[in-house]
Amino acid sequence: MNVEEHRRLRELLGAYALNQLDPAERTAVQAHLDGCAECRAELAVIAPLAGPLRSVDPARLERRPELPPPGLEESILAAIKAEPRPPRRRWILAAAVLFAVGASGVGIGYVAAPDPPKIPIEPVSVTPIAAGIRSTASVVPHTWGMEIKLAGSGYEPGRRYRVVVLDSDGRTAPAGEFIGTGPAPMVCNLNSSVLRAEARSFEVRDESGRVVLEGQV
Ligand SMILES: [Zn+2]
Repeated sequence: MNVEEHRRLRELLGAYALNQLDPAERTAVQAHLDGCAECRAELAVIAPLAGPLRSVDPARLERRPELPPPGLEESILAAIKAEPRPPRRRWILAAAVLFAVGASGVGIGYVAAPDPPKIPIEPVSVTPIAAGIRSTASVVPHTWGMEIKLAGSGYEPGRRYRVVVLDSDGRTAPAGEFIGTGPAPMVCNLNSSVLRAEARSFEVRDESGRVVLEGQV
């Protein structure tokens, strides 16, 4: 497999799950998914996070007043079938160690994955502090620390947000940054060196340091 292509297309998986790719990119991602178990595993984790956010997109609500079914397969099929919408939002990748995630994976329904190992992904509760923010989050334990998969909308467009993890001793460790996308949903991966067993919470802070979202882990 072409590593550069894998890296480039993997960064598009969030936008793919959110149905924000143009047709050429979507086709490229689909073709890559057929041959890349790592990206299929990553998409399997992202798609459930992206689904609820897509459902609150006003443009989609006009077409589909009902909430999309929670099933992964339906979410992905909806993303494939629906028309692309500009502007495209790129998936914000906040961390350099993303590829470590690919060591394990989950198969998904519409592509053949004969013996899918499991990603131990764990949904966690989040509390928005700032008005207008909607978010969901899951965490994934790793040998090197804890990964947070954060989906959300309502973060001020163009503004930088920092995520920190607080451990059981009250220390904080950086988990990465992302750029707000306003009403458009975004999905980002954040990685901290705090081990899952030591982590107690995480915070999303705006440029002034104000906490805009808290997560309990
Ligand atoms: Zn790949």
